[in-house]
Amino acid sequence: MMKRRDFVAGVGLGGLATGLAGCAQSESTANCDSGGDGQTWKWNMVTSWPPLFPGLGTGADYLARSIEAATGGRIKVKVYAAGELVPALEVFDAVASGAAQLGHTGPYYWKGKSAATQLFGAVPFGMNALEQSAWMNFGGGHELYQKLYARFNLVPFIAGHSGVQMGGWFNREINSIDDIKGLKMRIPGLGGEVFKRAGGVPVNRPGGEIFTALQTGDIDATEWVGPGNDLSFGFYKAARYYYYPGWHEPNAALECIINKDTFNELPDDLQTLVRIACDSTSLKMLAEYTYMNPRDLKTLVEKHGVELREFPADVMTRLKEISLEMLDEMAAADSDFGEIYGSYKNFFSTVKPWHNISEEAYYRAR
Ligand code: CA
Repeated sequence: MMKRRDFVAGVGLGGLATGLAGCAQSESTANCDSGGDGQTWKWNMVTSWPPLFPGLGTGADYLARSIEAATGGRIKVKVYAAGELVPALEVFDAVASGAAQLGHTGPYYWKGKSAATQLFGAVPFGMNALEQSAWMNFGGGHELYQKLYARFNLVPFIAGHSGVQMGGWFNREINSIDDIKGLKMRIPGLGGEVFKRAGGVPVNRPGGEIFTALQTGDIDATEWVGPGNDLSFGFYKAARYYYYPGWHEPNAALECIINKDTFNELPDDLQTLVRIACDSTSLKMLAEYTYMNPRDLKTLVEKHGVELREFPADVMTRLKEISLEMLDEMAAADSDFGEIYGSYKNFFSTVKPWHNISEEAYYRAR
């Protein structure tokens, strides 16, 4: 594994220099201009996921292969798992600086850059994957997203959805809101902030570190994604109760972030193909989760004896009150958050009554 400083010096700056000089031989070359009409690009994609991790990592790989295939190999993309070039939580900086050309990651990891990035990822008691897609594509979300990330020299596209997640793994039953008090749980993003306001102690850990933290008692509880990912991490060996629903992540949208200079130098047709590949990845990933989750939930319950539990209604009600209050406070305190949450909330209020009489009514009826 290269140290980040070496990587930046060796690939970022060196790659740029050789790229300017024309078509270089090095594998690590950032841009390779073979001249004339046959111009090609070699991109490094840094990700926040373990290699080929089901859903997230396979989604990143699908995106890379789609870009290559759709462009007939004019753009070649090499995918790096978390830690191979940069750590999971340094993807944003690596792409913003041009050290890597693009990244596949989650918007809520970047709240330190702007709290508002979280609104494009997962909002507690917020919109599901379909609703969020409608807001992004037709309700003004995408334009706000582009505007916010442009400030960091990035062009972002949504490229993946988890669907509704699970509430998490616990070693004690949650029977009232008091059972959350003092509980140390791996729960990142806005959900973590709500958990804190409810008396819990939220912490963030990259996926690869969660199991050990749970097993050694460093944390009392964890959420991750859903059965498809949680089974492979073996959480059932370290916690007894598996709670639903994932109130904190009714969907997590994942993103492809591209260095703005890299994206802008592409001809229009390739820019369009990259966008289409991101759209395709969004649907593909949601489908993969919808395929994996029921299969692996069955294994968790029937083979490993995991006890499924639903959060009590009064716990959900209280967490929802805290969430709505917190989101309004954050909107009042931060103009970016305020503008984006205003758009989000407005769209949610129009789509909710429709889904009450369509999706929800159908779920009850079928
Ligand atoms: Ca999660």
